[in-house]
Amino acid sequence: MNEAAFKYEVGINKLVQKPGRSLTEFLDWDIVKGVFRLDVFTSIQKHIQKHFKDTRLRQLMEFPVLFLGALPENTPALYSLMNYADIKGGTWYPNGGMYAVVDAMYKLAVELGVEFHFNEPVEKIQVKAGKATGVQTTRGEKTYEADIVVSGADYQFTESVLLEEPYRTYSPAYWERRVMAPSCLLYYVGLNKKLTHARHHALFFDVPFESHAAEIYKKPGWPTDPLFYVSVNSVTDKQVAPEGMENLVFLIPVASGLENDSEEVREHYFQMIVKRMERHLGESIADSVIYKKTYSVTDFVNDYHSFRGNAYGLANTLMQTAVFKPACKSKKVSNLFFTGQLTVPGPGVPPSLISGEVVAREVFKIFGR
Ligand SMILES: Cc1cc2nc3c(=O)[nH]c(=O)nc-3n(C[C@H](O)[C@H](O)[C@H](O)COP(=O)(O)OP(=O)(O)OC[C@H]3O[C@@H](n4cnc5c(N)ncnc54)[C@H](O)[C@@H]3O)c2cc1C
Repeated sequence: MNEAAFKYEVGINKLVQKPGRSLTEFLDWDIVKGVFRLDVFTSIQKHIQKHFKDTRLRQLMEFPVLFLGALPENTPALYSLMNYADIKGGTWYPNGGMYAVVDAMYKLAVELGVEFHFNEPVEKIQVKAGKATGVQTTRGEKTYEADIVVSGADYQFTESVLLEEPYRTYSPAYWERRVMAPSCLLYYVGLNKKLTHARHHALFFDVPFESHAAEIYKKPGWPTDPLFYVSVNSVTDKQVAPEGMENLVFLIPVASGLENDSEEVREHYFQMIVKRMERHLGESIADSVIYKKTYSVTDFVNDYHSFRGNAYGLANTLMQTAVFKPACKSKKVSNLFFTGQLTVPGPGVPPSLISGEVVAREVFKIFGR
């Protein structure tokens, strides 16, 4: 934990705040002197094996890494900082669910004078002589003029669809070579009864971890026997389900870009994981389902323009970290910036939010306040 605490402190206070536009940014004394303690060159699998003997504990420690986009044997041990965040930081739940965070940020932004235009996707970023002049939306021909454009949409989509070819920094071949973090298969489920033994969070490790991980990363395909996570937030939060009912979300990590994402495939996995949960809890679930919505790879593509339907951005491999990530500032359009999980510092809610802070600082640095 002490080692992980060090990584967490340096990671959160130093590494994630860098715009990743030059290697010289990392010539920071704390980073340089701590480079070996940061464990960038050891795998997290080896690191965990050094500290834990029990297979179950090893799997528990390795599980968060599954979302980072590489097998534990190929992920730098730097990411034991995630275990530190989990174990020492704790697991916190915003009353009302994750959307309560979005809503709070929205209200704060409105208070600060931000104007939102919903249900009006951007169709084109207009550029003249290497400078973005505005954006065109589905609203029609009229464009929104802009001094600076910041795109928070999927990076690959922004570059490949919203920008004309001469203004794209990265080629189709570049994107083809990117290694993506997983997508996921989700079920939003309502039950017309209370479960007696359910907990708010549960990770199902009742099947081998290695084979599921291999089906995400080594030989991408629909998993044979997947691990899954289930959240029953109505156990903690009375607002998320009517009295006497339960609100469940099931999540199965799957490889990005999977084909054959059909209703039959989704139903197959639903039956499989519900049976496993019923067996574990010793109570029925399937016969009390009154609401079910599924969400997976094709929905991420259609709703979010997500590259290969990824849910967690680029894989956190060493060669896709910091300066090796798609840059937060366009190299072809002088006043175009990018935020979100495909640029620095990387995937996840906190890093994506931090990417906004990083870009704001870059904008002020280059264009003044
Ligand atoms: C089920 C699930 C569970 C997760 N769990 C965790 C977790 O426990 N911890 C964690 O840290 N991370 C988690 N993540 C990952 C995290 O949610 C993402 O990394 C993060 O939300 C990405 O933020 P973003 O700003 O890059 O993208 P988004 O949040 O997707 O925002 C991009 C926005 O751009 C909009 N957009 C797209 N195209 C256009 C257009 N043409 N015009 C205008 N707007 C457009 C989209 O509608 C979207 O609102 C999870 C993700 C999923 C799917």
